[in-house]
Amino acid sequence: MGILRKEKMRTVNSSTAGDRHFEVFNPYTNEVIGTCPKASLDDIAGAFRTAKNYKASLSRAERSQILRKTADILVSRRQEIAELITAESGLCLKDSTYEVGRAYDVFHLASSIVLKDDGEIFSCDITPHGKKRRIYTQRDPLLNAISAITPFNHPLNQVAHKVAPSIATNNRMVLKPSEKTPLTALVLADVLYEAGLPREMFQVVTGDPREIADALLTDPNIDLITFTGGVSVGKYISAHMGYRRAVLELGGNDPLIVMEDADIEEAATLAVAGSYKNSGQRCTAVKRMIVVESVADKFVELLLEKTKKIKYGDPMDPEMDMGTVIDEALAKYCEDKVNDAVAHGAKLLYGNIRKGALYSPTVVDHVPFDCDLVRIETFGPVSPVIRVKNIDEAIRVSNSTAYGLSSGVCTNRLDYVTRFVKELEVGTVNVREVPGYRIEMSPFGGIKDSGLGYKEGVIEAMKCFTNVKTYSLPW
Ligand code: NAD
Repeated sequence: MGILRKEKMRTVNSSTAGDRHFEVFNPYTNEVIGTCPKASLDDIAGAFRTAKNYKASLSRAERSQILRKTADILVSRRQEIAELITAESGLCLKDSTYEVGRAYDVFHLASSIVLKDDGEIFSCDITPHGKKRRIYTQRDPLLNAISAITPFNHPLNQVAHKVAPSIATNNRMVLKPSEKTPLTALVLADVLYEAGLPREMFQVVTGDPREIADALLTDPNIDLITFTGGVSVGKYISAHMGYRRAVLELGGNDPLIVMEDADIEEAATLAVAGSYKNSGQRCTAVKRMIVVESVADKFVELLLEKTKKIKYGDPMDPEMDMGTVIDEALAKYCEDKVNDAVAHGAKLLYGNIRKGALYSPTVVDHVPFDCDLVRIETFGPVSPVIRVKNIDEAIRVSNSTAYGLSSGVCTNRLDYVTRFVKELEVGTVNVREVPGYRIEMSPFGGIKDSGLGYKEGVIEAMKCFTNVKTYSLPW
């Protein structure tokens, strides 16, 4: 990237954050690519006060126009923004370019959805003791601000999924992006301002979570916390946030289940796409492959063949299919968990090679269903195969972890499909698709340790970011 970005926070009062800064690294080169301010507690309080005191009054047409313009600017600057995502996250250019496209979809869809009023009307004369009245509903923005906290794995799209519905509902949001990937969020704020968004409606603070996290949860001017990240931080938030609404989108440990009747070629293609895209760092990445024994040898053969074709290395090289994971610590974690699985009887078939934050696509077979590699979320490009006897065992193994985000099932049998939809303890079942398949407006989120509160997806988030008010009139 060359130039060092010396960033400021995107708040309304610019006298923020003195001269305390933290550094942002390129995970592939280890170079410092930027610095961001470390917000003080006063900075955080000031941002929420400004947000709370601002009365947003954009018409639906104005909100739609801002969202549409944001989508258009993102696409016109696609290459530059993708390179920034790649520089701070180590995701390869193919992944980061795709991410800009997804963010376009989020803003583009939100710009249409905002034009539709979802108010309801209830006639009151529908029972013998009814009255000639009508009850109407409307959705109002929250009285106070929204606090948004995002993870590193999609530096742009995670933020888009929070800010687009916030703008669509005339709310005011203060965002703290991951300290590992804050630069893209700051650029997105600039794009939104250029598209006409009043600064008070979206401010970005940066800093050290050990200093400012509690203020982002408990400031008196916060009505709602929308958080995407790991389970442990999510549980910390639910224990400390007090009397306010929260959306917690947490980790996943999603299975791809392959039954004996499946198209094994298709299943292996889905397995590879689900396992290595975004360097395996998606909440809905395929983290366990649960395969019926009778087809497991064939599946593993194809999985290996397709894995060997994945080109990984310099994330800025447009030919690469995979870049690094976020840092060396995560790469080392993946390596340790694979070694641990092997110590518990698994067979390493390919990969488990690490250089700094670069970790190879890795295939491990005969993985015991209860070893750490597959019991706890492994956020990296590992394909662990767990062999099972039949559908009963597949469902039991799938449900055996604390997570419940999404799933993919490879079968054409309707009796299997109906059992999976009914019995898998997850938020989503995708038949003959990766667990991560969705569109940006459909409801998305997990159960158990994978999520609490409302779902995400533009439409659900718009409901959650509003208070329903009813009013009634004589009729
Ligand atoms: P993380 O939980 O470590 O951090 C997420 C955010 O929380 C960061 O901005 C961090 O600064 C902040 N934070 C840290 N301590 C905090 C505290 N005490 N209070 C409030 N905020 C605090 O997660 P990560 O490592 O950045 O992201 C990876 C995780 O996110 C994975 O577990 C992944 O599955 C999950 N994720 C979930 C979804 C989903 O929609 N369910 C989507 C993407 C990622």
